[in-house]
Amino acid sequence: MAVETSTYHQLNVERIRKDFPILSREVNGKPLVYLDNAATSQTPQVVIDCIVDYYQNYNANIHRGVHTLSQEATEAYEASRKKIQQHFNAKHPHEIIFTSGTTHGINLVASAFESQIGKGDIVLISALEHHSNIVPWQMLCEKTDATLEVIPMNTKGELILSEFDKLVSKQPKIVAVTHISNALGSIIPIKYIISESHKNGAAVLIDGAQACPHIKPDVQDLDVDFYVCGAHKICGPTGIGMLYGKEAWLNKLPPYQGGGEMIAEVTFEKTTYAGLPHKFEAGTPNISGGIAFGVALDYMNSIGFENIAQYEATLLHYATEQLLQIDGLKIYGTAAEKTSVISFNVDNIHPYDIGTILDKLGIAVRTGHHCTQPIMDFYNIPGTVRASFSFYNTKEEVDLFVTALKKAVMMLS
Ligand SMILES: *Cc1c(COP(=O)(O)O)cnc(C)c1O
Repeated sequence: MAVETSTYHQLNVERIRKDFPILSREVNGKPLVYLDNAATSQTPQVVIDCIVDYYQNYNANIHRGVHTLSQEATEAYEASRKKIQQHFNAKHPHEIIFTSGTTHGINLVASAFESQIGKGDIVLISALEHHSNIVPWQMLCEKTDATLEVIPMNTKGELILSEFDKLVSKQPKIVAVTHISNALGSIIPIKYIISESHKNGAAVLIDGAQACPHIKPDVQDLDVDFYVCGAHKICGPTGIGMLYGKEAWLNKLPPYQGGGEMIAEVTFEKTTYAGLPHKFEAGTPNISGGIAFGVALDYMNSIGFENIAQYEATLLHYATEQLLQIDGLKIYGTAAEKTSVISFNVDNIHPYDIGTILDKLGIAVRTGHHCTQPIMDFYNIPGTVRASFSFYNTKEEVDLFVTALKKAVMMLS
């Protein structure tokens, strides 16, 4: 008897889809096929419920009040910090700094590094970075007269490690690279990059925005100095994220912003700063978002990252095979190690035109440069169409997408 390959038998996609109310809506009279997960993920009911529960039952400012609501909110917020600590296997809860997202986390470290960098020092990034992991370092270099250097990539969308070896031997002060490319899906060998950087005296920041939806990073095993991500790509809400920093680094760096929450004592003559993590958390934070971030991680963990990775790999393989049967279709990003992101163009058709027709057919994809203009320049293209798959997408959705794409190509050629 023929048995369906059941390597991902633990992931029941039909049941999972019921957790996401938005997945049953229609767009332009067609069932929604949401393939823009690398831009933001959809939100399961438990996370929506958590946010509603906060505003309905215990909305209050944290760390300040003696009253019951404030204590309940503080407890839930700090319990979530602990959950995030455990998820990433950080040594201490105070090594987790709540931020508004990946961009904020990188800016925090880049700003604080002004204290560590001087004229002629090197900041090393890579050719695969999102603009969020380019511009803050350029701003830092402008302020300090440091030099920005870039690890080059090959045409498959992999970093050229022999070039990295040469650049890191120039002893940069900090190396900031992405864990996974949002435009191409390439998985970067960050463990190697971290250990070689440390041998050469450099600190390392990893942009984990695109990795955390697919894998569960262990910051102690990686021995990384800073790791950042945002909740909205991991089934959480927008406007919340985290910066992991090694305790010693966070103690060494100066505060990023001044205000309430981050002080020990304030007089007009002198202010002393609070300890970790509050030193980096000035002002009233996104409290409901912080609590919901923990619930989102619980949800992902209840499905299991092993199951997610296996299932998404199957979808990626299936979609790649189907797409390559379309005449004139070229996939950008063919790294040996990649996640469920497919960037492509068909002949000389503008990606925007394909995206517009796909939307009419209910299919959400991303078009454009994906905040990675240097990658587009490398391939000498204005942009791509990007389909990115999540654990709640199905093979049937891939079929709908491919059929719609064929129709779009026919209309446009
Ligand atoms: C999405 C993304 C960012 C930016 O995240 P924000 O949520 O916009 O702050 C940075 N880097 C990568 C790799 C991303 O995918």
